[in-house]
Amino acid sequence: MQIRRLPVETGSAAWNELLEPAAPAVSLASDIVADYLIIGAGFAGLAAARRLTQLDTNARIVVLDALRVGEGAAGRNSGFMIDLPHELSSADYATTLENDRRQIALNRKAIAFSCEACAEYKLSPEVFDECGKYNGAAAEKAHNHNIEYARHLDELGESYRILGADEMRALTGSRFYKSGLFTPGTVLIQPAGFVRGLAHGMSNRISLFENSPVTRLERANGNWLAKTNAGSVLARKVIIATNGHIESFGHFKRQVFHVMLYASMTRALSEHEDAATGEKKWGITPSDPAATTLRKFSGYGGTRIITRNRMSYVPSLSISDNHLNSIAKHHQAAFSKRYPELDHVEQEHVWSGRLCLSRNSAPAFGQLEEGLYAACCQNGLGTTKGTLAGIAAAEFACEGETELVRDMLEQGVPTKLPPAPLDTIGANAFMRWAEFKARREM
Ligand SMILES: Cc1cc2nc3c(=O)[nH]c(=O)nc-3n(C[C@H](O)[C@H](O)[C@H](O)COP(=O)(O)OP(=O)(O)OC[C@H]3O[C@@H](n4cnc5c(N)ncnc54)[C@H](O)[C@@H]3O)c2cc1C
Repeated sequence: MQIRRLPVETGSAAWNELLEPAAPAVSLASDIVADYLIIGAGFAGLAAARRLTQLDTNARIVVLDALRVGEGAAGRNSGFMIDLPHELSSADYATTLENDRRQIALNRKAIAFSCEACAEYKLSPEVFDECGKYNGAAAEKAHNHNIEYARHLDELGESYRILGADEMRALTGSRFYKSGLFTPGTVLIQPAGFVRGLAHGMSNRISLFENSPVTRLERANGNWLAKTNAGSVLARKVIIATNGHIESFGHFKRQVFHVMLYASMTRALSEHEDAATGEKKWGITPSDPAATTLRKFSGYGGTRIITRNRMSYVPSLSISDNHLNSIAKHHQAAFSKRYPELDHVEQEHVWSGRLCLSRNSAPAFGQLEEGLYAACCQNGLGTTKGTLAGIAAAEFACEGETELVRDMLEQGVPTKLPPAPLDTIGANAFMRWAEFKARREM
C-alpha cells in the first residue's frame, strides 16, 4: 500500500513552543528489524508502546512518526483528559446507566495508565494536573443542560459541585458564566509536554524515529515491511496509530473523517492580567460541545489563556492562512466577550489540528490482517480514548482478545460515510447549525 496523504499542520504548535527545545530529531536512515512497529506517536501510539514494554519486556519496539512528537494533534489539543462522556442522557436509563458506567470505567483506566506513566517518568505536575474541570454555562439553556447532566451523575453515584455566577466569577474573573458544574475526574495536561515526556521516558526501551513518514506498508514473508523515504522497518507485528490517516493505509476507507478544530493562546499575562482572570489555573468546557472551551494555564511559558472554538470539515486537511486568520478573530471575540477589560491582550498563537470521527462514533480498532492492528478514530475525548485504544491494540498484538480488547471490539465498526460532495456539504451544514445553536456559549 502506497501512502500518499501525509499529515499537514497549520499554525504554531504553541504548547510545544512553550517547552525547552527538544533534542535534534533522529530520523530513520537505514533498514532495521523489530518485533513491533508502531506507526504514529500520538496518545494511541505512545500508549501502545508503553503497554508493549510491560507485556513483552525484551521486545524490540520501533515507533515512527511523520512529524516531531508534540507537533501533531497530540500536542495541539486543549489538554482535557476527561473521564466522563460528553453526553449523559437518555430515556432508557437501564441500558444507558450500564453503558455509561462501562465507558467511565474504561476512560479511568486510560487516565490511571497515563498517571502511572507520568509518575514513573517523573513528569512535572504542570504536565499532568489532576485538578478536575468545570462545565460553564452562560445562558439558561446551558444551565439547564448542566442540571440535567448533574441529575444523571446522581444516578451514576458520581460526585460533582454546582457553582453559581459569583463562584464562577471568583474562579475565572469573568462575569460571562452564570453557572458551572465541577467534576473532579478530569486531568488537565500540557499536551506537548505529556507526549514528549512519555516518549523521553521510554527512550531506553523503544527506538523512536521522528520526521519519518511511512510511505509504504507491505507484506514480506509473513512479516510487515514499512518503508520511509530513507529507510525501512521489517516487523512481525505492526500497530497503526495514525488516527484518521489510517485511510491512507487502505483501511476504513470512507468510514472515518477528520474534522479541523482551532485554538488560540494569548501571550503571557502580566501580574495584573493574571489577577483579573481569577485563580491561577482552571479549565472550562462548554456545556454545549459546539461552543467555546477556555483554559487558563500557569507554568512553562508563563500564565496564558487558551481559547478553542469553531470546527470545519476540510477533506484536503489544508487550511489557508486567510482561513486561520478569520478563525483567530472568532477566538479574540470569544476572549473579549469574557474579558472586555482585557481585549488589548493579543492572541500570540493560533493553530488548527485534527479530530477524527466516525458517523456512528465507533473506533477504527482491531486486527486488520494477520499481525496488523489499528488503534485509530477516537471520536472526541481523544486524549483518553486514544490512550485506551493504544493499550488495547498492544494487548491484542501480544495476548489476543483480552477483556479490554473485547470491550473495544464491542463498540462496533465505523459505518460508511455518504459519497462526496454530500459528506462535505452535510458535515459543514451540521457544524454550522450546531455552532448557531450554541451561539450564546461561543
Ligand atoms: C484544537 C484541538 C483541541 C482538542 N482538544 C482536546 C481535548 O481537550 N481533549 C481531548 O481528549 N481531545 C482533544 N482534541 C483531540 C485530540 O487531540 C485527538 O483526538 C488525539 O490527538 C488523537 O490521538 P491519536 O494518538 O489517536 O492521534 P494523533 O494525536 O493525531 O497521532 C497520530 C500520529 O500519527 C502520525 N502519522 C500520520 N500518518 C503517518 C504516517 N504515514 N507515517 C508516520 N506517522 C504518521 C501523525 O504525525 C501523528 O503524530 C483536540 C484536538 C484539537 C485539534
